[in-house]
Amino acid sequence: MQKNEHVLIIGGGIAGLAVSIFLKRAGIKATIFESKPSNDESGAGFVLTPNGFKVLQSLDCEQEILQNSTVIKSMHMINQENDEVFVQRDYSDKYYNSAMINITRANLANVLLKKANHLGIEVKYNKKLDGLKQSNKGVLATFEDGSTVEGHILIGADGTFSKTRTNIFPSLKLDYAGIWGVQGVSSIEDTKLNLSAEFYGYMGKNNFLLCFAKCHPTNQDNILWQAIGVSPEKLPINKFEKGSLNNIKAKIYDLMKDWNIDKAVYNMLENTKTLYPRSIYSIGDLPSWSQGRVVLIGDALHTTNPLVGQGASFSLEDAMYLAKMLKEHDYRDAFYYFEADRRPRTKKITEHFLMNQEFDLEDFINNYNIKWESESLIN
Ligand SMILES: Cc1cc2nc3c(=O)[nH]c(=O)nc-3n(C[C@H](O)[C@H](O)[C@H](O)COP(=O)(O)OP(=O)(O)OC[C@H]3O[C@@H](n4cnc5c(N)ncnc54)[C@H](O)[C@@H]3O)c2cc1C
Repeated sequence: MQKNEHVLIIGGGIAGLAVSIFLKRAGIKATIFESKPSNDESGAGFVLTPNGFKVLQSLDCEQEILQNSTVIKSMHMINQENDEVFVQRDYSDKYYNSAMINITRANLANVLLKKANHLGIEVKYNKKLDGLKQSNKGVLATFEDGSTVEGHILIGADGTFSKTRTNIFPSLKLDYAGIWGVQGVSSIEDTKLNLSAEFYGYMGKNNFLLCFAKCHPTNQDNILWQAIGVSPEKLPINKFEKGSLNNIKAKIYDLMKDWNIDKAVYNMLENTKTLYPRSIYSIGDLPSWSQGRVVLIGDALHTTNPLVGQGASFSLEDAMYLAKMLKEHDYRDAFYYFEADRRPRTKKITEHFLMNQEFDLEDFINNYNIKWESESLIN
């Protein structure tokens, strides 16, 4: 791409922030348009597998990330009888020579935002994308407040419910994926859980997973937990996404009622003051990843089963790879190579979206291809 051309990025989440920084490093000007009124991040956090962490290393924010996260050294899978059925020690070193981390969404976003600010990248808040119009010269984005902006190309990094995607592929519909997830952050002091660098996953016979690990070296609220369950029917919004704290906790306790596990795990749930419940949706494998001057990345492009914990890592990979292609090519070729090179990798996970609801760590390590080597860094 020419250096004086301007990229519009819709969405200032993980994918949007990361792609803006990579583009800046490639000498390409980009502006982020975010619908939220400020950088206040809601949502609990992520496990970032080594492929995602490697992207953060190449963004030169490894130290800030390590100061704000916990490196997971061992993974323990436990059944509902409280028997350890699988343990993997030296997880990162043995398999990847890179770290796997647990981090809150706010801490990851803040590190990226600080980096973007430092590089002079503009983030415009209260800018909710509404419409798009393309011409042979550029793309015109219209926001819900009536304002417009023109750019050379536009990157839709606006998440699962992407308005960019519905603009370019209006007939594509999101499907409920038969899965729901709840996340929370709890205080290690209150729970008395003995955690330092361990990731615990409790898997019940009913395909209900409860997993947790520390997510910050010093913060008081520093256990990030995730509960993931299956339900053929979507849980009613007023009882789930908009349900009361007690009702959502009661649902989780009900799924654990036959479990013989440590009281401290219940304390962790009980002491959590804010919950992030989400029904999970699938968009399947999109027929195309771009249309004209508009391209998608992150959750706007591919939804993954939260059981495989790849959404944020894939968003970071997308950001890096797309920026590299834009550095080297005209936008048409860049979009073509971005899709051709990355689709086989993300398709594998997308196709697995619902097939393996039982989590098998060895299968995950060997078959989910998270050993991605980021040889494609932008220097
Ligand atoms: C329960 C659960 C657990 C998960 N656990 C993990 C995990 O352990 N590991 C992992 O890697 N991933 C996990 N994920 C997935 C991960 O959260 C996502 O893959 C990741 O957040 C995607 O980043 P993104 O930047 O593409 O989208 P988002 O984080 O959704 O960001 C999109 C941004 O776009 C903005 N936006 C939306 N619409 C508009 C608009 N019209 N105009 C302007 N801005 C807009 C939003 O406000 C937001 O800031 C989990 C997801 C869930 C639901």
